Amino acid sequence: MRLVILGGGESGTGAALLAKQQGIDVFVSDAATIPADYKDLLINHQIPFEEGGHTIATIQSADEVIKSPGIPDKAIMVRQLRDHHIPIIDEIEFAARYATGKIIAITGSNGKSTTAHLIYHLLHTAGYHVALAGNIGYSFAKCLTKSSYDYYVLELSSFQLEGIRYFKPAIACLLNITPDHLDRYHYAIEAYAKVKLNILRNMGPLDHFIYNPSDAITTQYLQAQQVLPTLHPIDFPSTDSSNFNKESCSFAISKSPAALLGDHNRYNATVAVTAATLAGLPSETIAAALPKFCGLPHRLEWCGAPQGIDCYNDSKSTNIASTTAALLSFSQPIIWIAGGIDKGNTYSPLLPIVKERVKAIICLGKENSAIVKAFYPLGLPIHETDNLSSAIDSALSIARPGEVILLSPACASFDLFKNFEDRGNQFKDKVKERIKN
Ligand code: ADP
Repeated sequence: MRLVILGGGESGTGAALLAKQQGIDVFVSDAATIPADYKDLLINHQIPFEEGGHTIATIQSADEVIKSPGIPDKAIMVRQLRDHHIPIIDEIEFAARYATGKIIAITGSNGKSTTAHLIYHLLHTAGYHVALAGNIGYSFAKCLTKSSYDYYVLELSSFQLEGIRYFKPAIACLLNITPDHLDRYHYAIEAYAKVKLNILRNMGPLDHFIYNPSDAITTQYLQAQQVLPTLHPIDFPSTDSSNFNKESCSFAISKSPAALLGDHNRYNATVAVTAATLAGLPSETIAAALPKFCGLPHRLEWCGAPQGIDCYNDSKSTNIASTTAALLSFSQPIIWIAGGIDKGNTYSPLLPIVKERVKAIICLGKENSAIVKAFYPLGLPIHETDNLSSAIDSALSIARPGEVILLSPACASFDLFKNFEDRGNQFKDKVKERIKN
């Protein structure tokens, strides 16, 4: 069997390492330059690769191709492989062939990382032999080359779910489906929703599916397909009818860690508690572990209070739904820092909440016209800048003690920053500087 992997990033390199370990003839091809640390891994494991372009004949000699999640279906190379009927799968599908433990998969438009980390935290604290992998930045395949585990908690993006065939989680959580990444799906929510529901594709009657019954898009597409696993509906913000969930919901709400602000996080916590309960954890164990969860950086992360003004870093918020959740998490007036690269946003759903809670908007981006145009009718002060320091200074000059400065961009970061972590870290550093001065 000859395996070709398109893309030499985290998932591609992980898949290559696992393939090599399994004695498979593997080759990695990347249209761009492969980052140095991944290249070193390939060289050290004597895995052949090419970068800066694809050699078509080599790739078409494959029996199977693994496509990295960043490569869209419309890419020419992918279209050519399909024309030649060469099977194309995802790294997750490939890795799952070698996983002996149970898979707990988490997907959705928002809340995946938080929920996946929390499930991992609960199982790990309880002494389970558990790994956390997937879209969190640690490839599932690479994880399997290190050790085998009883449980794999996998965060899965829609891109990763595009290429699954037999992948079968024992427990799956679909948190929500709201518009995101629509640029990849021809601006059609239907295509995006179908990919998310792909998670159910191979689940059987002994498996469990946790979802939000008040999420309109989830229920619309769920009704249209055959669903075999046991359903665990968990309403947002956590008031469900079935006994199992009622207990776990009120339990999670009362024990929700202080680090997790807002109804959306109580919902995430309830989903995590439900998954952990289904994995066999007793409620006392969960109760002991839950308050110790510290939350994740860049997700409504408190980062200081210069001049008595609480500053929150929600840099991970890159779509309208996550920023809605962030704005709803505060009762104090908010100076809202937003903007960046818009992935196809419609801002109108934010208008009522911005009107109700926001005192001023600071637009931080190279191109701010869409945000300005959308919120101008509210008559709020709107400041525009492409400089983070001046965004924070403007916000501080407007805010009064007891109010909140919230960086929750609803947009991707690549116009001014390397990524959302860079944006969040710079924000935290600059807030800290203003505490010292
Ligand atoms: P993901 O991995 O799906 O991007 P994260 O846990 O990293 O999710 O959170 C991303 C953003 O979404 C953060 O800004 C966070 O505050 C917000 N968020 C987290 N959970 C939810 C939820 N259940 N619904 C809406 N927004 C959420």
